[in-house]
Amino acid sequence: MTSECLQQLNRVFGYAQFRGSQQAIVEYASQGGDCLVLMPTGGGKSLCYQIPALVRPGTAIVVSPLIALMQDQVDALTQLGVSAAYLNSSQSAAHQREVERRFLAGELKLLYVAPERLLGERMLDLLGRVPLSLFAIDEAHCVSQWGHDFRPEYRGLNLLHERFPDVPRMALTATADAPTRREIIERLGLEQARQFIASFDRPNIRYVVVQKDNARRQLADFLARHRGESGIVYCLSRKKVDETAAWLAGEGIDALSYHAGMDVTDRTANQQRFLREDGIVMVATIAFGMGIDKPDVRFVAHLDLPKSMEGYYQETGRAGRDGLPAEAWMCFGLGDVVTMSQMIAQSESGEDRKRVERAKLESLLGFAEAIRCRRQVLLNYFDEQREQPCGNCDNCQSPPKTWDATDAARKALSAVYRTGQRFGVAHVSAVLRGESTSRVEDLGHHRLSVFGIGRELDDHQWRGVFRQLVAAGFLEADNEGFGTLRLTEASRPVLKGERRVLMRHEADRSERRAARRGA
Ligand code: ADP
Ligand code: ZN
Repeated sequence: MTSECLQQLNRVFGYAQFRGSQQAIVEYASQGGDCLVLMPTGGGKSLCYQIPALVRPGTAIVVSPLIALMQDQVDALTQLGVSAAYLNSSQSAAHQREVERRFLAGELKLLYVAPERLLGERMLDLLGRVPLSLFAIDEAHCVSQWGHDFRPEYRGLNLLHERFPDVPRMALTATADAPTRREIIERLGLEQARQFIASFDRPNIRYVVVQKDNARRQLADFLARHRGESGIVYCLSRKKVDETAAWLAGEGIDALSYHAGMDVTDRTANQQRFLREDGIVMVATIAFGMGIDKPDVRFVAHLDLPKSMEGYYQETGRAGRDGLPAEAWMCFGLGDVVTMSQMIAQSESGEDRKRVERAKLESLLGFAEAIRCRRQVLLNYFDEQREQPCGNCDNCQSPPKTWDATDAARKALSAVYRTGQRFGVAHVSAVLRGESTSRVEDLGHHRLSVFGIGRELDDHQWRGVFRQLVAAGFLEADNEGFGTLRLTEASRPVLKGERRVLMRHEADRSERRAARRGA
């Protein structure tokens, strides 16, 4: 089996060796085993099912959610002399009939099918008339309702196994946190499947997180370090995408936009330009990216928080697929935490789902506020232990200064409590700093014991303290849409002075001015 698989790798694909766990996977699948393949983007998942498809008798059915990707893969395979085709809604009826004819004649080694096409009775009937070598379910995380790529049709894929129990299956994904993995296994009935879990480390990507101060200026400074390079800037909303792209264009940067609210023609044209030309900055919502196979994306910037660690990993993973140095940069502030918390609170989802989403956001905040190696934090999230700090992230390269913030944390939490847990950071910070604003006086908060107990820090520094308290889970910033801060159970020991709190040092005004002049 080894020699046969290797021969295909050499002869058909022109590669000398398998990479990482590819060999174990293709051998196992070629012998008819069911498996779940978790491999990072760019890790080489396609070969994992393409080689078994060539080695085994019959036709392999590849389920893929992305029409563009299907076409690319089939074109590439055809060029290599492999008989492959796809069926999806973009084809003419005549073309579809021709593909079906080739399939029924047993001429195809691989047939790519969109999930919604696959499960119709007509298609299932066709599948029953030809020997099948395997089912490959690509982007298997689309079955997970917690992920941002959820495709309801993926839920029906279990039917394949019910109808064709003897055909081996392979599910593949680059999203690998434990809850998603469990859901894939359960939804696709892969309890007996062998799991192949590759390392998720992307050593060439440098991770950097900066605290939001003046986001546009910070982005401009970041882009100045990446002049002439291709990259993606992710924003949360369509409106912000449009505004940011227009602003960058005005700054003389080759920026285009992409989001689901755009006219399809414009959107596709922008995507094509990004793929074909050098040095384009694509400002986009997360609608842009899945299946974007551009090897030389040199950076991915986040102007807003991603929804989860998986989201962050997927989005940043689009950088540096060629293995050359790339940078993942994220700019975030307390306002983002509030926005995300509100989005979760106001969404239509049930309590269960909201709980999961809040937990995911918290993991992400933990990463954003981490004071140790970011790669360690990221990989730990995917259940991968890494002994040594990486040396290729901001925290490794310039270890953050920390300070004992126990006292400040107590003051901040007390102020939240004394003002009735009904206010946002601006008001509570004003009370702490002893600012007699009209709002403070109207509310009588200048008479509280906490009024003016925090004059040693400026407004910016208090914001940093509150942000870190939220990230550490001592405060919640959700609520009915006002960014109100409230104590959590975890804040008790801090308030009682039983727990020390270490925080990242935030530059004060003069330090920030100096840094700006130096930049
Ligand atoms: P994924 O689907 O996991 O993101 P791909 O299957 O698209 O990754 O593979 C990423 C790139 O790596 C492709 O250009 C592919 O041709 C290349 N590749 C995969 N396996 C090998 C190998 N064994 N040797 C050399 N190149 C490989
Ligand atoms: Zn590191």
